[in-house]
Amino acid sequence: MIIVFKPNSPEEKVLEISKIITDLGYEPRIIRGVEHTVIAAVGDEQMHRSLDILRMFPFIENVIPVQKRYKLTSREYHAEDTVVSIGGEKIGGGNFSVIAGPCCVESLEQMRTAAADLKKAGVKVLRGGAYKPRTSPYDFQGLGEEGLEILKQVSTEFSMPFVTELLGVSHAAKLSKMADCIQIGARNCQNYHLLEVVASCGKPVLLKRGMATTVEEWLSAAEYLIVHGCRDVILCERGIRTFEPSTRNTLDLGAVAVAKRETHLPVAVDPSHAAGKLDLVLPLAMASVAAGADAIIVESHPNPVSAASDAAQQIPSAKFADFMSEIVPLAKLMKKKLSETK
Ligand code: PEP
Ligand code: MN
Repeated sequence: MIIVFKPNSPEEKVLEISKIITDLGYEPRIIRGVEHTVIAAVGDEQMHRSLDILRMFPFIENVIPVQKRYKLTSREYHAEDTVVSIGGEKIGGGNFSVIAGPCCVESLEQMRTAAADLKKAGVKVLRGGAYKPRTSPYDFQGLGEEGLEILKQVSTEFSMPFVTELLGVSHAAKLSKMADCIQIGARNCQNYHLLEVVASCGKPVLLKRGMATTVEEWLSAAEYLIVHGCRDVILCERGIRTFEPSTRNTLDLGAVAVAKRETHLPVAVDPSHAAGKLDLVLPLAMASVAAGADAIIVESHPNPVSAASDAAQQIPSAKFADFMSEIVPLAKLMKKKLSETK
């Protein structure tokens, strides 16, 4: 930590803070500038109490961390790309994958039609929500366990592993048995208890970025997963809330580049929840591939008009091959391997 004093702080205050830093287990190194005095506190912030407390002193201007809040997630800790397998489909490490399926599971017929269309289009991994985090309690909340059973049945029939969202701890045991990859949705990115629980499920986790979390907070959430025993983490950017209303969420592609640079984890993008509208999904998906995404997760429904949630952003599954024909060449141009070409 770097502790910055306000200009012309008296020497006795500097010595007082220096003593507190020593008492907290760090080694203080005082650096006296013309106006500002700075103390570099040397020591592992994981081992000692936080020095953030020093902010309470009126003569302290700032307390700046020099160590990253996330460690096991960082490339400094693990230089090689981590490759996560979702039921055999490799995510990360130079591979590129498209995960697709309806926003929510509505019926066996809906999921079977979607899976058949998507498989024909070259999609290897299905998505679909059995438990849905809806903004209004009056909206369709998902089929719950019945939805999970449908996902499992369709996944087995079409040999397509699936990703589905975990909403609460009471569903964790069931999901850990059935899902190939468990999604933590944007609303739960900072639900630390849920992160601890999902980390011990023994399944890969797709961690969406919260709609108001910074990249550091998102990567710290990934750190929770790794610290609590889940090494197979896929980060997923899905747009953040800004002042801009023309898309549902503002797709932060800068965060994709930063996450790729800062971490060894695969980075996926969900262009559907960023776009909010069908015609914007393809350009945002293409931009995601160009920004270096290892995977995209896209909503697609056999009949979007009748969809129980997110109708406006879902690609008709019968047209998904057209979407793939734009994405696949771009992924290849980015020197990514796709499972059919491996
Ligand atoms: C979803 O993927 O169905 C979903 C609700 O996404 P998010 O958590 O990103 O809003
Ligand atoms: Mn949705």
